[in-house]
Amino acid sequence: MSPVGGAVGGPAGGAAGGSGLAVLADEAAGCIRCPLSATRTQVVFGVGDPSADLMFVGEAPGRDEDLQGEPFVGRSGRLLDRLVAEEMGVDRSRFYIANVVKCRPPDNRDPTAAEITACRPYLASQLELIAPVVVVSLGNFATRLLLGTDQGITKVRGRSYPVDRFQLVPTYHPAAALRSGGVVVAEMRADLIRAKQLLGWTT
Ligand code: SF4
Repeated sequence: MSPVGGAVGGPAGGAAGGSGLAVLADEAAGCIRCPLSATRTQVVFGVGDPSADLMFVGEAPGRDEDLQGEPFVGRSGRLLDRLVAEEMGVDRSRFYIANVVKCRPPDNRDPTAAEITACRPYLASQLELIAPVVVVSLGNFATRLLLGTDQGITKVRGRSYPVDRFQLVPTYHPAAALRSGGVVVAEMRADLIRAKQLLGWTT
């Protein structure tokens, strides 16, 4: 089984591609599987090309994402978009982006193990429906879940890993790149170039 676990049951499990994602997003919008449902403004399900070859997976929505309903729309997201454009030559129309946990943890605290367990079927279903060729995990939470490891991002980044039907490229969360700059940004750029090479993208 995938390290992410089983997909969500019900209608989304049997639908394909974009329509399946839309059904799943509708289902998630009313989700009360974990306590984060009580404090969120809205569920931040994910956005992008429903049949993308490239998918990014982050940790959890922050304040801007919770208000706007879209992942990575704050400063971290703008940095990610810029690095992806510069190193991979694409914008959000060419990839899909989502988080491990779909609702904002209060005060931007880390998601708990119980919250990740409650929410992971949505990510499993997204991976199943989108069927990306390359997944870039952003930071420790996404990397640990997708790789099934306890190791931190600094230990595991710098290479790719076959996981299920995709290649996983672990890299830093852009918030870490914002905080640290320099070497972290340079290594993030190298990871994005690795992802591009795995996709066979030449432009
Ligand atoms: S974080 Fe996930 S499991 Fe928890 S309420 Fe939101 S959508 Fe449901």
